[in-house]
Amino acid sequence: LVSRDNHPVRSTVRVGGVPIGPDTVTLIAGPCAVETPQQTLEAAQMAKAAGATLLRGGAFKPRTSPYAFQGLGEQGLRILADVREKTGLPIVTEVVDAHDVPLVASYADMLQVGTRNTQNFALLQAVGAAGRPVMLKRGMSGTIEEWLMSAEYIAQRGNLDIVLCERGIRTFETATRNTLDVSAVPVAQRLSHLPVIIDPSHSGGRRDLVLPLTRAAIAVGADGVIIDVHPHPEQALCDGPQALVDGDLEELARIMREFPPLL
Ligand code: PEP
Repeated sequence: LVSRDNHPVRSTVRVGGVPIGPDTVTLIAGPCAVETPQQTLEAAQMAKAAGATLLRGGAFKPRTSPYAFQGLGEQGLRILADVREKTGLPIVTEVVDAHDVPLVASYADMLQVGTRNTQNFALLQAVGAAGRPVMLKRGMSGTIEEWLMSAEYIAQRGNLDIVLCERGIRTFETATRNTLDVSAVPVAQRLSHLPVIIDPSHSGGRRDLVLPLTRAAIAVGADGVIIDVHPHPEQALCDGPQALVDGDLEELARIMREFPPLL
């Protein structure tokens, strides 16, 4: 269903009216985690100022440590809905458990499946039936073939509104949090008709790498980027070191304006 063999024309997925697909480079930005109404609103305003047309923000956070901040849950979803009301930005947010899919789908414009859940098949089937577009991250140790098979689980439930997101993979390199596999973009775009975006924030795990990796994403033909921003990253409850700050936004906006989409 997701193969390009049976569907030669590359697809565009619409999220609350915002297109992600071959004719544009969509900027999705916002806080890694929803922490407070003020922090989420400020991050959304930063995102919008940089040219973002979709707001990201995690209310359910899949953390490596059970002692780390796990997200605000439904309270976080309510904050996101309020910020959508104030900014007009549709919401992309993660769901980590199949049982929570109806709840998250009742607030979200797009459901995110994170790298740790790319092969959680019950979750994939549940999001496939939820009636919302889905952003499917690549498993951190997953092959492109496995990633596309995960997309197939979603598509099988009747949902072809799927966006693939390369977010870096595990390699022997320790200088960066993950290794961004830029070649995954053209490879996945040749194998599948689905849009493919890049997450430069979770790939490098470092603020100083986000803008260079954003340039790489656009140069390689990605259909969008998803970027963490935070008004006070030193106080962030999740992934502060990779969040862009106010001072980075002008450059981000310039990159988004100046790199034309590869038509
Ligand atoms: C995220 O985008 O908030 C996230 C946790 O990403 P990943 O699943 O790629 O680690």
